[in-house]
Amino acid sequence: MLLKPTRLLLLGAPGSGKGTISKRLLDNFTQLKSIASGDVLRTQISNGTSIGKKAETYLKSGALVPDIIMIDLITKQLKDQNLLQSNASWLLDGFPRTFNQAEQLTKVLEANNSNLNLVVELDVNQDIILQRIESRYVHLPSGRIYNLDYNPPREPFKDDITGEPLTKRDDDTAEVFSKRLDKYNEEIKPMREYFQHLGIWHKVSGNTSDIIYPKVEKLVISDN
Ligand code: ATP
Ligand code: MG
Repeated sequence: MLLKPTRLLLLGAPGSGKGTISKRLLDNFTQLKSIASGDVLRTQISNGTSIGKKAETYLKSGALVPDIIMIDLITKQLKDQNLLQSNASWLLDGFPRTFNQAEQLTKVLEANNSNLNLVVELDVNQDIILQRIESRYVHLPSGRIYNLDYNPPREPFKDDITGEPLTKRDDDTAEVFSKRLDKYNEEIKPMREYFQHLGIWHKVSGNTSDIIYPKVEKLVISDN
């Protein structure tokens, strides 16, 4: 399946399930690649790179990393993974996050004949997101996400694939998380309008990934 090249942005509040939906898409469509900006940043931080050092304080406080850093970083990832070409299929999770990032990304893609063709905004009730964030655990090296209530690991606090320990993200505390949510609500409006204007924006609503995933899959396999 997935007959034509798909270049998809997954938008949605922190904790809305972008990572979970990405993983399911990647499992089902092997030609899809993905870049998750938060995972890229966390790798830079744990490798102690100069970008990681610059980014660390922003992540800790729940603020956005400056656009210029993000645009360079993600453009480089796209290049390094050979994704800036018209027959590539990929999805981005967590980037763009501002109107400016959206515009800059579109420019880079246009210049490489690899325009976006689908934008999906995950619409999940934010009270529910807040309730479940406390029970989110991650396997940092891979970005795999678990929820102790909805999607627990097979063995408590251990990654299903590697058996390595799961951790809580520093920025998944109630205080930092609500700041990230506020920031999202502020930035999403102009971005949504931008993509609506391009005619590629779709909204998918539901309060669990089990409800949302089939709707996203439908968009990916149809001509949307
Ligand atoms: P979740 O992973 O729960 O859906 P999220 O989308 O807020 O939540 P990440 O995408 O992992 O989380 O991002 C974590 C942090 O990394 C953000 O709070 C921000 O500091 C930084 N970050 C990630 N992507 C960007 C971006 N495109 N622009 C600016 N900062 C970013
Ligand atoms: Mg994420």
